[in-house]
Amino acid sequence: MLVGRIVGYPCTSFNRLPGGRTLQSMAVSSIWINYDASGGSWGWTMPSAFPDDIVITGYTCRMGRWSLLGTFVHELAHLNGADGFSHAAEETLRGCGLQSPRGPYDPSIRG
Ligand SMILES: [Zn+2]
Repeated sequence: MLVGRIVGYPCTSFNRLPGGRTLQSMAVSSIWINYDASGGSWGWTMPSAFPDDIVITGYTCRMGRWSLLGTFVHELAHLNGADGFSHAAEETLRGCGLQSPRGPYDPSIRG
């Protein structure tokens, strides 16, 4: 879904992040997707220590493919320099066409 339906979208907000990378370039790079079965939040990253790793939780996987894809793009935005306190990472979902009345973009998410 990421490559087939999202990467071709302009996603202009994504490459405006401090890292300057496009979603397309990140989608074809070597990113490790780690699974956290302990639950908790949707996903997380530690870009300074693990710049090529994202973590997706079991909760996110249970929420369905669009939530999973939205979280994946959100966490990639952190690897591309989005900070952990503003709306910057989540905002990339809107720019990548991941906004509908039912999600996955969430205007209330910070961090
Ligand atoms: Zn975040």
